[in-house]
Amino acid sequence: MSEQSYRAGHVAVIGRPNVGKSTLINGLVGTKVSITSDRPQTTRHRMLGIASFDKGQLVLVDTPGIHGAQNKAMSRVLNRAARGALEGVDAAMLVVEAGRWDAEDQMALDALKEAKVPVVLVVNKIDRLREKGDLLPYLAQVSEGREFAAVHPLSALKRQGLEALVDTLLPLLPEQAALYDEDDVTDRSMRFLAAEFVREQLMRQLGAELPYASAVEIEKFEEDGQMFRIGAVIWVERESQKAIVIGKGGARLRNIGTKAREQMEKLFGRKIFLETWVRVRQGWSNDEAALRALGYSE
Ligand code: GDP
Ligand code: MG
Repeated sequence: MSEQSYRAGHVAVIGRPNVGKSTLINGLVGTKVSITSDRPQTTRHRMLGIASFDKGQLVLVDTPGIHGAQNKAMSRVLNRAARGALEGVDAAMLVVEAGRWDAEDQMALDALKEAKVPVVLVVNKIDRLREKGDLLPYLAQVSEGREFAAVHPLSALKRQGLEALVDTLLPLLPEQAALYDEDDVTDRSMRFLAAEFVREQLMRQLGAELPYASAVEIEKFEEDGQMFRIGAVIWVERESQKAIVIGKGGARLRNIGTKAREQMEKLFGRKIFLETWVRVRQGWSNDEAALRALGYSE
């Protein structure tokens, strides 16, 4: 009987920035709820991805990776969110990149030990391994002397190996009814997701040019018949940064808006009218009160 019972619970997703935590969550949920890019610190907020299956429900806690100082107030807020993610979870996944294990990965594992929950090691990005024969020795090496409930090599991006991971995770959760509606994919509001999709495009389209101190605020979110009218403000700290975001003749800002709108239409299933502005506010990223006002708090 118990083998057929339904299980549900929270699973924290921990790892250094850029290992693919958000991509993994999107793969498990089956749709994009957490933004991704090749820039570290793309994820700035703790958020939940909800993945429902016949046998149970995984409530995945996405986290900004645990990392060192670059901007003090921002780092404090991000690390607090990452550690806070471990409170009250039933299990955790430590995500690492195939072929790599460095000091930051170890730091993440050490943070997990305090949580005293089963840890599943996810060895991500195996599609990037040039020598497939390198995988087994790597798995043996990282498992040695470390107690993982299981080790799963996979590719989050190509969605390979995800079913097996789900089969490992569900039995680690308590037998209980679903914690969220099975149609829900995240705990976050559409307003929050709209801001995130704009920020994702900023990350992706500006690359190294992106000012570290940038944030997105949704000023307007209105329903208009079958469509949503959304107004987004991109905050930067200097006029020169504003010019970079806007681009030549406004081309970059237009492109950011177009791509963000497409993502919103996909997730919300509605037609979207999106307006974007860039505004300058000096010093906000060093001010915890301003960060809170922009939603950077647990
Ligand atoms: P996070 O910072 O840990 O949340 O990492 P993201 O999910 O934002 O991913 C960081 C980068 O790695 C993005 O460019 C992803 O497309 C890429 N990535 C994630 N998973 C995989 C994977 O399985 N294979 C490959 N080749 N790239 C991946
Ligand atoms: Mg992320």
